[in-house]
Amino acid sequence: MSLCHERPDHPEEACAVFGIYAPGEDAARLTYFGLHALQHRGQESAGIAAGDGKSVMVTKDRGLVTQVFSESMLASLEGHVAIGHTRYSTSGGSSSWDAAQPHLSAIDETIIALAHNGTLVNTNRLRTRLLDLGVSFRSSTDSEVAAKLIGHFTQKTNHMREGIRKTMELIEGAYAIVLITPDALYAFRDPNGIRPLCIGALPDNKGWVIASETCGLDIVGADFVRDVEPGEVIRVNADGLVSEQAVPRRSHALCLFEYVYFARPDSRLDGVNVYEARDRMGRALSREAPVEADIVMGVPDSGVPSAIGYARTSGIPYAEGVVKNRYVGRTFIQPTQALRQRGIRLKLNPLPSVIAGKRVVVVDDSLVRGNTSKQLVQMLRDAGATEVHLRIVSPPIVWPCFYGIDTDTQKQLIAATKTIDEIVAYVGADSLAYLSLEGLLACCPAKTPGFCAACFNGEYPVRLAEQQQLGSFCASLEPRFWPEEHAGMTPLFDLM
Ligand code: AMP
Repeated sequence: MSLCHERPDHPEEACAVFGIYAPGEDAARLTYFGLHALQHRGQESAGIAAGDGKSVMVTKDRGLVTQVFSESMLASLEGHVAIGHTRYSTSGGSSSWDAAQPHLSAIDETIIALAHNGTLVNTNRLRTRLLDLGVSFRSSTDSEVAAKLIGHFTQKTNHMREGIRKTMELIEGAYAIVLITPDALYAFRDPNGIRPLCIGALPDNKGWVIASETCGLDIVGADFVRDVEPGEVIRVNADGLVSEQAVPRRSHALCLFEYVYFARPDSRLDGVNVYEARDRMGRALSREAPVEADIVMGVPDSGVPSAIGYARTSGIPYAEGVVKNRYVGRTFIQPTQALRQRGIRLKLNPLPSVIAGKRVVVVDDSLVRGNTSKQLVQMLRDAGATEVHLRIVSPPIVWPCFYGIDTDTQKQLIAATKTIDEIVAYVGADSLAYLSLEGLLACCPAKTPGFCAACFNGEYPVRLAEQQQLGSFCASLEPRFWPEEHAGMTPLFDLM
């Protein structure tokens, strides 16, 4: 049976969110700093919304944080409560201005700005229903559906927390959301806790901060307090911070790929420092897949801590074999076709003096389509490497991700279509080995047991009901792999 004919509405986003409530402080400026620390989670667009007690102002655009905000723009965002967002949109996602966040939404008297990290998997039907009710949309993003639902329910119940709770009961998927009204900050996380979200406190009781990662707290001098719990809603206003378990927690399913790739090494996720986790991954892989070589190098940035771990445990010296250009981001200024063809050379340049004549172990965090490795191996050979051994500190990615990784069909995933020997031949390496899933899990001893490892093992924590009708996503997924208790379910909702 053919299941799908069109893509879902821009489902593949892994972004960063930041929120702050700090009377007497320049909330927008602190948000600007927070977004700098979280820039690695999304380089396509950036935005800040600020509330001054009376209204909410939003500034957003395509590009990096530094490209979007000028001093005068920041100065115009006045107020003591603010949120910010950096957006990572993948090949299927829209790069329009309207898709940039925060989304400003006004339904009658309810003015909110919302920023979302994650992917909702059932918004098509909810959107249609809202359209039927006369609600208009500026973009086709899942995040705007969430914003409009909250506005809708808040209007009906006259209560923002009730509006959020009802919305959480309806939306499915991965979400770490921050939201402001003119005088309050809200933050909430999906019942599986797929994307990270943490709470920090500014010194001297100056206010509260919410961030996707703890590095976003550090940059504004906030002390980590705790993670937002799955299914929990936090509200901060003049009465202080209150918390409510709005919807029941489900099995904990923090994305394991956060430790592998997404998060910054100086962040802590569920009590585990990402740098240390990556170091352990490298050590574990050197035990699982040793090889005789002269140097170990990492693919910057995410492969480097693991390469150092691999080198320490194997006794093979660590060396920097490539230099990364840190100023090439994904921006709205597209490189020319000729430059694009230079591919990896736009970002990485080899150090022949380090590489020439050496047997090189190359440690990278993941192999997705295989493009990076193929080009990198060629580059290292051109620079004189005599052998190139690829070591990947995650298991083969064989399942599409519905909650953040830029992969929507299995066909795109090299490990789903080729054997190890075929991949070795394709990328031109001398050998290839992956870290086992058991090995990876042992490196990430989070406080709360349970991860989403769907990209590695096909066990999706959130029902895929809507994917049964939508998108090339599910065209590649055999029904036998849909979680049994959810197969065939359709979300029940009543917006009236
Ligand atoms: P590929 O070239 O498709 O095999 O991609 C693997 C490389 O992309 C690795 O070096 C990763 O660090 C990086 N990577 C992994 N996941 C993502 C993602 N979701 N978005 C962008 N880059 C990624």
